[in-house]
Amino acid sequence: MPRLLPPSPDAMGEIFNSINLGLILVNGQQQVTLWNDWVVKHSGVKTGEALTKNITEAFSEAPSPSFISAVSNTINYGLPVVLSNALHRSPLALYERGLEQTGKRIHQSISLTPITIAEERFCLIQISDSTTSIKREKILRSHSELLKKEATTDGLTGLYNRRFFDEHYKMALGHTLRQNTPLSVFMVDIDFFKEFNDHYGHVAGDHALIQVASTLKKQLQRASDVVARFGGEEFVLMLPHMNQEAASQFAEKLRQAIWDLNIPHVKSQIAQQVSISIGYSTLPGNDASEPNILLTTADAALYRAKRNGRNMSFFLNPQPTQESSPNPHSDDKS
Ligand code: GH3
Ligand code: MG
Ligand code: MG
Repeated sequence: MPRLLPPSPDAMGEIFNSINLGLILVNGQQQVTLWNDWVVKHSGVKTGEALTKNITEAFSEAPSPSFISAVSNTINYGLPVVLSNALHRSPLALYERGLEQTGKRIHQSISLTPITIAEERFCLIQISDSTTSIKREKILRSHSELLKKEATTDGLTGLYNRRFFDEHYKMALGHTLRQNTPLSVFMVDIDFFKEFNDHYGHVAGDHALIQVASTLKKQLQRASDVVARFGGEEFVLMLPHMNQEAASQFAEKLRQAIWDLNIPHVKSQIAQQVSISIGYSTLPGNDASEPNILLTTADAALYRAKRNGRNMSFFLNPQPTQESSPNPHSDDKS
């Protein structure tokens, strides 16, 4: 039967030098008594040069003050310490490929453990390279931020997408009903945009969509106001706390702002420039009608604005039985 002997000092040395971890042992006078090959490789300081030196002088550059005080605490009070790499990225002068190769320090996770040998307290310093895990974490974080952004915004215009709008619309509706405050919704559609694309081309069409989108966005003032691309050349705006009277003025402001862009549209059947039609509706706040009524009403109002000649806004009340009325600025010919 082979006997299980403790490893010889030579074997222990082999193990220390093969381990993928920096190992330094410091005695009660803070002198280096162990300096393994990992530390040699990353510090550029040979074992012979480091041994017996004070830990504060063993590296090519002095360790950070927090590292020095952590070593003192471990030796004086027997306290184990972990230097988290979130707070202390690179306390020691350790480099990816040794000293000469690169000026970039590796990120370090360091733990200090008190060890008592022959009644003298030593401090065992273990160092691991957290550069790759930090890099991986950074990449994952930026990926997830990008995905989050892509999931909620429209790639062409940078506005929120339909999905984001639907979520926020539900929240705003709940708020409206709970707080008994009004909520106005506007459906915006570019007039004769198919003809615009056919005449000026798809690239010019995309450019016009971007201009319209950013102009609509500029009309919003409150953080709770939302504009989103509803699809194609249609946009939707949701403005909490806005009553019918204010909505009527706002709809006209939107129409005018797009008109003032003066984007030529020689194929439009109603003007020589790009215009929009707007259908809008307001929920007074104390109404617990079914959630989609506001959107379907605004959509019906948009249809009326189109039918009445385009380049205008049209209001409809969410209650389907109630009288509808065109915006005073528009002329309802139906
Ligand atoms: P109306 O005044 O009745 O709204 O007429 P319209 O031509 O604007 O309406 P229609 O729905 O027939 O056409 C919408 C056009 O919008 C079709 C398509 O060419 C264009 N469109 C939709 N999405 C995009 C886009 O992302 N880029 C570009 N360039 N054009 C788009
Ligand atoms: Mg449309
Ligand atoms: Mg259109």
